[in-house]
Amino acid sequence: MEQISYYIKTRRDFTRIRRYAWILTLFIAIGGLWEPRLGLVVIAIMAGLTITAFFKGRYWCGNFCPHGSLYDVVLQPLSMNQRIPSFLKSKPMIVGFFVFFMFNFGRRMLEAFQTWGTTSFLERLGSVFVFTYLVVMIAGGLMAVFINPRVWCQFCPMGTIQKIAYSLGRKAGVNESTDQLITMTQPSMCHRCGKCARVCPFQLEPYVNMNDHNQFDDFNCIRCATCVENCPAGILSLKTKEEADSLKAQPIPEGYQHRRLIYARIQRIHQLTKDLREYVLTFVDPPTVPYRAGQFMLIRVTDEPKAYRAYSIASYDEQYRQVSLIIKQIPEGYGTAIIFNQYQEGDLVELEGPMGEVLVPDRGTEKMVFVANGIGITPFLALVQEVLTKREEVQSVLLINGQRYKEDLLYHETLRTLEKEYPHFQYLPVLSRDSMEGIPKGHATTLLKDRVFTGYKAYLCGTGHMIQDAYQIMTTNGLDEKAFFFETEEKIPDLQLPASMV
Ligand SMILES: Cc1cc2nc3c(=O)[nH]c(=O)nc-3n(C[C@H](O)[C@H](O)[C@H](O)COP(=O)(O)OP(=O)(O)OC[C@H]3O[C@@H](n4cnc5c(N)ncnc54)[C@H](O)[C@@H]3O)c2cc1C
Ligand code: SF4
Ligand code: SF4
Repeated sequence: MEQISYYIKTRRDFTRIRRYAWILTLFIAIGGLWEPRLGLVVIAIMAGLTITAFFKGRYWCGNFCPHGSLYDVVLQPLSMNQRIPSFLKSKPMIVGFFVFFMFNFGRRMLEAFQTWGTTSFLERLGSVFVFTYLVVMIAGGLMAVFINPRVWCQFCPMGTIQKIAYSLGRKAGVNESTDQLITMTQPSMCHRCGKCARVCPFQLEPYVNMNDHNQFDDFNCIRCATCVENCPAGILSLKTKEEADSLKAQPIPEGYQHRRLIYARIQRIHQLTKDLREYVLTFVDPPTVPYRAGQFMLIRVTDEPKAYRAYSIASYDEQYRQVSLIIKQIPEGYGTAIIFNQYQEGDLVELEGPMGEVLVPDRGTEKMVFVANGIGITPFLALVQEVLTKREEVQSVLLINGQRYKEDLLYHETLRTLEKEYPHFQYLPVLSRDSMEGIPKGHATTLLKDRVFTGYKAYLCGTGHMIQDAYQIMTTNGLDEKAFFFETEEKIPDLQLPASMV
């Protein structure tokens, strides 16, 4: 089996400082070769990182450090992004390097102070810092490219100083209201997908190491919020201990209360297209699992640490004995490679669920429109079946399905048959890169433009772009913004909605 990288390269420049602070590194390390007094800026940097550490741990490393910005922004795209060797994170390495660094740094400082009172003193002092900055830039930069962007930071003496200052701040009790830790707002909603660990620059594992306050209390966490930005469940944030405790008191949300461990057998695997497979699973323990169309299940992909992938329920079984998951194989996808290559018919697999509420229409909803693109069609295959057969109050159901190629129109004939059987159901496929008789060309949003959505509830699943555009079109065409519900794995920064992502 081809080796697929566990760690994911992803954006870490969430603020202007983080995006551009690397320029300061070049300015000091290279400009300092001509003007050594530029190195004196480093004194302010060292003071800044030590002071912030008292109150916020290694916050500086994740938010202000110019070298960190260089590694994350400039060098991450070039990095081999490998696992950081554990000896580089070990105590002997950290302590040994700290002593070695401080000895050499102290020696150079003493030499510089021998020129105290002369005109060259500031130059000599500045050059000590310029040299240090240059060495860190070169050594850290090489490790960033050939191993991982944040290798240097594992044993960086400035990081060690911050950990000492943080520890003192904690002992003195000065940081209770300022120290923000990664907090899981609702553990019952965690997909246990491990994405927070896969994007973490320090390769930490927040989701498996939460304490009693649902917080990740690790001295190495640099509060960079990369895990927060990437969590598909949107349940991570930086919070103080007091804030975390108030969140902990909140009840388990609707749609997650019946989540449980389930053993199921793979009854059948249908190859639907070259990269799409349907897995029909029969529940074994317990033998029945009540779920609602619109919910999703987790399927275990690895044991150490236990990690799952989320898949929408794509079938509707009134007896609750079976469930279908339609899974698209992702190029370089870690979990789908395991599912596609290792899971066979007859295998017993571990599920968790059912989960989710965003795509479960409220009882009493009379008019609903489902909009999907790509693999986002899967929950609607179950939803259409359920609302047509079980919801007598429903007067109008519209399914808009945007795909690229005709073979991606899953269960096309079944949906056409349902359309004939139920006059209040309209199925509207659209293809962006293929032609098929009777099917318009374009995107899901193309079909939204000339319709009126007054009185409808809209449920969407697919790419962030589609959801963003659909929101604009549908609310302009009469949809109440509170009647817009969506599920997507992508962040949609410009969309301000009352409904939340899963
Ligand atoms: C509620 C919910 C329902 C879902 N329902 C379905 C469904 O019904 N069907 C379905 O197929 N999927 C569904 N998904 C998506 C599914 O959970 C997985 O995310 C998907 O199968 C990919 O898993 P993976 O481990 O193979 O990919 P991953 O390895 O997690 O990769 C995910 C993305 O990151 C990129 N990536 C991976 N490694 C790197 C790297 N080193 N550098 C840069 N980028 C990288 C990949 O190209 C890919 O785009 C759903 C997700 C959610 C949250
Ligand atoms: S949902 Fe995934 S990324 Fe979010 S906390 Fe849970 S394991 Fe981490
Ligand atoms: S746990 Fe989150 S905030 Fe902490 S270093 Fe990792 S990604 Fe950054």
